[in-house]
Amino acid sequence: MLLIVRKFFSIPADKPELALAQFSAFQRQVPLMYLMLVANTVALSLTHAGLAPWQLTVGAPSILYLLCGYRLVGWVVRRKQVVTAEAAIARLRGTLRFTVVLGVGFTAWAFSLYGYGGDLEKGHVAFYMAITIIGCIFCLMHLRASAVLLVFIVLGPYVVFFASTGVEVFQMIAVNVLLVSAALLFILQIYYTDFANLIASRKEIQAQQQEAQRLSEENLRLANLDSLTGLHNRRWFVTALERRLAAAESASERLAIGMIDLDGFKPVNDAYGHGVGDKVLIEIGRRLSLAAEREGLEIARLGGDEFGFILHNPASDEAAVDAAARLIADVKQPLDLPELTVRVGGSSGVTIFPDHCRSAEEAFEHADYALYHAKLTRRGAVILFTQALATEIAYRSLVEQEIKRADLDREFHLAFQPLWCESGRRTYGFEVLARWDSPVLGPVRPDVFIPVAERCGMIGALTLSIFSRALKAASAWPDDVLLSFNLSIKDIEAPQILEGLLEILARSGFDPHRLVFELTETAVMQKLQIAAGNIRRLRDLGIGVALDDFGVGQSNLGQIHRLPVSALKIDRSFIADICESTVSCNIIRTLNDLARNLDCACIIEGVETQEQAAVLKALGLTLFQGYFFGRPMSEAAALDRLQSEYASSHAA
Ligand code: C2E
Ligand code: CA
Ligand code: CA
Repeated sequence: MLLIVRKFFSIPADKPELALAQFSAFQRQVPLMYLMLVANTVALSLTHAGLAPWQLTVGAPSILYLLCGYRLVGWVVRRKQVVTAEAAIARLRGTLRFTVVLGVGFTAWAFSLYGYGGDLEKGHVAFYMAITIIGCIFCLMHLRASAVLLVFIVLGPYVVFFASTGVEVFQMIAVNVLLVSAALLFILQIYYTDFANLIASRKEIQAQQQEAQRLSEENLRLANLDSLTGLHNRRWFVTALERRLAAAESASERLAIGMIDLDGFKPVNDAYGHGVGDKVLIEIGRRLSLAAEREGLEIARLGGDEFGFILHNPASDEAAVDAAARLIADVKQPLDLPELTVRVGGSSGVTIFPDHCRSAEEAFEHADYALYHAKLTRRGAVILFTQALATEIAYRSLVEQEIKRADLDREFHLAFQPLWCESGRRTYGFEVLARWDSPVLGPVRPDVFIPVAERCGMIGALTLSIFSRALKAASAWPDDVLLSFNLSIKDIEAPQILEGLLEILARSGFDPHRLVFELTETAVMQKLQIAAGNIRRLRDLGIGVALDDFGVGQSNLGQIHRLPVSALKIDRSFIADICESTVSCNIIRTLNDLARNLDCACIIEGVETQEQAAVLKALGLTLFQGYFFGRPMSEAAALDRLQSEYASSHAA
């Protein structure tokens, strides 16, 4: 019981939100209450002026006015202040104490006037007290404790006082006031409970909203993370890039956007399985995240073995390229896994905002293109997107457009480059090289249109068109002359193209032993597993397989050993300085030894001068290709060459 009573008269210190809500509602009504109190009191003083002594009509009320004024000014002055829950509770408690003081003060004063004047004045006292208490209960609606306290302080004595006057009218008024006040208190209780519930549910809703917010932030965080490496993911990168670009633009700052693609990751993944592949990616992710911290850049895994970075305001283009090169240097360090030690590399493409890209889309496209260029031309390098590259992009997209609508059998023709055997002093074969004379673009180089055809899915049709014509041409040659034919890795990757090639071969009746397919070492190493299986299949049919551009790729001896190739075609970059460089001589010698150990032929490409030929012959090499021995020529010229060789050998 005592507890309930206490609860009624106390400020809810355990519910800070409720206290704050009470405070802010109360703050709006309390000036009105003081004004009403003063106005009613002035009216009562006036009706008693001259009837009661001045101490009661002027003196005592003045003290009460001062107290009310003091409180009123306090509330008005502080109404704009932001208050804490503790301050609100303290001020509500202060109000509670003042309610007692003012309640007692005004009640005592009103009773003291009852003895003066006639019935009307006495009636005014009763009316003043009744109407004022009802007004106060209304104003204190949000502060239940004060309202209830006031009812007890004022109404208790009121009822006792007027009941004891013996005047029936006053006794009835006392009963009326008592009933009205009880009804008001009842309504106030309902209102207050609703108010408290409303505040509590508001608190609950706020808590729910906060929890929902927290969960959505957590979801957002997870949605932006790559679950394998813990780095940011592509989704994050795309949004971050847009934001950083906008910020850089408004601050007139530069931004370097880069992409890194691992070199040699796929063979590791293919050979040792996804478990090892994942470990490699996790470790690379760890290194890149440390490096990002060191370099002050942001990094993300864009997918597979591709990563992206954003570098803020690089001092220069070179600084951005250098930062990317340091990331790649970290990637290149050997990885010590429990199972084995592996090494992967990385190539990178970088573009600079606003110099070479204006939007996130362009940044992606340009960095990706520079990366593609690095992978194609300079593996392990960082390539900066430049205007020259941009021109090339435009040209390549034109090439793509044209190749898609080209009439392959008419626009593409064949050139044949002799393969020379020094020991037999004869042309032992020809390599077929595709030539394109586009009606729109003019002659297009094969190192331009082949990659484009690979990318846009035209390579299969092109290969098949060239192959059937090459077989037709080679059928006119003597039986001991080989046909060497370049294949793209896409050709042996796609079963339908390989089947198409073998079908054309079978239909032509051409001896498979006279056919050699050339595959670049780099392409084979990238698709090692699938390439190895298909190379074995071709070899079983009697077809030769040569590893083209050998020496520039990243194959290791163990891997080559497992490939049943019939020839290595040494890349022409080793031959260029063969006359001056003993290093190049040693490399050629080593590669020749390697070929001998693998039991396959060693063909030297790109021999341009007599001096080079002499040095190479002295090293013991016998199979050559190059401008010195013969440039790529027409079908008729190739046939002429064979015929004249035949004639001169028989004449001798
Ligand atoms: P590749 O297979 O290494 O072909 C040899 C390239 O070197 C040819 O360039 C040839 O003209 C050139 N070459 C030959 N001897 C010399 C020399 O002494 N010095 C110099 N500087 N260059 C020499 P081409 O015809 O421009 O072909 C470029 C590449 O395009 C080829 O390189 C080959 O990878 C590819 N390619 C050409 N035709 C085809 C084709 O029908 N199918 C496929 N998949 N690729 C082809
Ligand atoms: Ca070739
Ligand atoms: Ca080659």
